[in-house]
Amino acid sequence: MQQPNSGRIEIGRIEIITGPMFSGKSEELIRRLKRARIARQRVACYKPDIDLRYHRTAIASHSSQTHDASVVTPNSDRLREDLFANGKIDEVDVIGLDEVQFFDNDVIPLALELVHLGKRVILAGLDTTFANEPFGPVPNLMALADEVTKLSAVCMTCGAPAIHTQRLGASQELVVVGAAGLYEARCRTHFQPFIDEHESEQLELPTIG
Ligand SMILES: [Zn+2]
Repeated sequence: MQQPNSGRIEIGRIEIITGPMFSGKSEELIRRLKRARIARQRVACYKPDIDLRYHRTAIASHSSQTHDASVVTPNSDRLREDLFANGKIDEVDVIGLDEVQFFDNDVIPLALELVHLGKRVILAGLDTTFANEPFGPVPNLMALADEVTKLSAVCMTCGAPAIHTQRLGASQELVVVGAAGLYEARCRTHFQPFIDEHESEQLELPTIG
């Protein structure tokens, strides 16, 4: 961020990067954070501790791009505590948050508060669940953002642009190593909403954007 001039309050911006799994959301988040660092802006990046598949202390994309990240429980109060502890917030220009769909709705006022402190807030997360319902705080964040980037993936059935995340197999007992074994991107034609008999199950599964 530029230096504030003559007492004018610098206002930041909210950017949200959304879409189904395998659409490159984390990759785009990483790209923006790396560009910010090149521009000598100070970056803080967070991800929820739900997602430990690739790295414990970095966000990672399927194409193996990474960026250092602090791992937090997906709880807005904890995130706020970390940001505001020991004046950390004054030493940060850009705040990145991956897998924002796992956070509670209080992440919305937190994002707005950060914007009014002049921060650039970049959020990445799924817009819909595997049952094709709006996912957590993401729809509201899309409405409130300065900029929405909605990415598509490629349908694994027909190759068309895909906006859905298909969950495969209700009760797979196999040890599944990669996210690609449990989920696929699908177009509207080939998407069949996953009906989960255990409502909380999808929140406990590791997912990668
Ligand atoms: Zn298709």
